[in-house]
Amino acid sequence: MLTSKGTIQGYNGVAAVDKKHQIIVEAQAFGEGQEHHTLKPILEGIKARYDRLGISEDVLADQVIVTADTGFSNEDNNLYLKENRINAYIPDNAFRSRDKKFAKQKEKYGKRHQDTKVGVKQVIPSSEFKLNQKNKTCICPSGNLMWLKNETTQRNGDKKFAFEGRLTDCRSCPLKYDCMRNPDSPNDRSGHGRQVSFTINKGKSATDWMKKRVDSQFGKKVYGHRMSVVEPVFGNIDTNKGLNRFSLRSKAKVQGQWLLFSLVHNIEKIMNYGQMRGI
Ligand code: SF4
Repeated sequence: MLTSKGTIQGYNGVAAVDKKHQIIVEAQAFGEGQEHHTLKPILEGIKARYDRLGISEDVLADQVIVTADTGFSNEDNNLYLKENRINAYIPDNAFRSRDKKFAKQKEKYGKRHQDTKVGVKQVIPSSEFKLNQKNKTCICPSGNLMWLKNETTQRNGDKKFAFEGRLTDCRSCPLKYDCMRNPDSPNDRSGHGRQVSFTINKGKSATDWMKKRVDSQFGKKVYGHRMSVVEPVFGNIDTNKGLNRFSLRSKAKVQGQWLLFSLVHNIEKIMNYGQMRGI
């Protein structure tokens, strides 16, 4: 598993839970820290299980609502959900900043994370540079025309422009100490001027499609239930059952351990709250 501390031998237990009964309907262990790649196999697993049990041939086509947290949001997953007409609500990690309800959250509770990295010099932000999309030009805060270093179209259709200040302009610029992290860089012919990039969102990506769903009144209501549905299940397995880390090695054994704990959780739910009917 790739982590911020390098590659470690570890696994990530992913589970899907039904809202009504908090029963685990699919559980798989993955040797990856990131969750993006796990969405599709989990959904395919749910579909196959419901079909096998004779509940529904294609539960996802039946428009069952799927929610997942921001860790599962990326363009590939949103495209998969859109193309397969899956009724999903998966927010991107900026969805709260678009929601007026959370506008005063920082004031009230303070910042969860620092806005800036400690030890990284802050420079004039890209918002102070004037981009002309039509002409593909950029004017820096000193009024100099920058050169277009790179122009790319990303997979989601967004355009990205990268500009760089000319060495001769940046070298003698009175603003260079505020504009550049390394103001000495343009002094050398092999150095660089200030670099700045802009991403132009065309609003046509699958992520834009998902943003509209999540930002709608209905989307907010649906997503608001996610935490109270799935987190108590993980809390039960972690705190009550004591599985705060896998004790086995190899994918097959870890998968077995994860399924066993999921099964115990489900048996306990059925024992406490009712009889199993077509789960
Ligand atoms: S350092 Fe370069 S890019 Fe920045 S304001 Fe000066 S000339 Fe413009």
